Amino acid sequence: MFRDYSFLDEVKVCPHCNTTMSCCEAPPIHIGDGLGWGSEVMFICLNDYCPLFLKGWDHIESKYGHHASYRYMELPKSKEGNVMMVGNADAFKACVIDRDALRLQNERYYKEKEAKEALATCVEKHDLQPPLTLILDDAVAKDDRMLALEVLEKLNDLSCIDPLRNHKFRDPSVEFAVGQSLDRILKANYKKECPHCMEIIKLQAKKCMHCKEEL
Ligand SMILES: [Zn+2]
Ligand SMILES: [Zn+2]
Repeated sequence: MFRDYSFLDEVKVCPHCNTTMSCCEAPPIHIGDGLGWGSEVMFICLNDYCPLFLKGWDHIESKYGHHASYRYMELPKSKEGNVMMVGNADAFKACVIDRDALRLQNERYYKEKEAKEALATCVEKHDLQPPLTLILDDAVAKDDRMLALEVLEKLNDLSCIDPLRNHKFRDPSVEFAVGQSLDRILKANYKKECPHCMEIIKLQAKKCMHCKEEL
């Protein structure tokens, strides 16, 4: 969505009111303006008590004779101060970017990318984490999760059972496939799950060693 995400970690403070500036999507460029800001986002002081904004109304009224004011603005990675003319207090407030949400989305994306890359080597490293990350993330494409399941079966490690059993899968077809994989992993280890307490027990057990129920 953005070409450069470094604005996610940038903090800017308005020199007029000392409050943290909001990060907004830059308005679309109008050909008539001659030039755009050359940035996808801009930092704007949206504090309604900012002295620049409060004094701007009278200033513009007396100078240009119309009803508007200024908001203080800086571009990312720049300390140069600019002003944006606004016709009301709500201007730009709808364009504020939810940076926390975007940061999480970004982290999720890179976690998925890393896990996919690690699938190729995780069997030899005996690392359960990459396939588990992909299978447990409901935002990952189904094909990738199925591929991760194949790798998980190759790892043949019973410690994958708990995290997968405890996950609430949004896609029932993925949940079904996971269940089948887990059955195969249990069988390959000569184990089964107790139908009463779900603890892992020996395949041939007649009585559960955890809940003592007869099987
Ligand atoms: Zn301010
Ligand atoms: Zn049991």
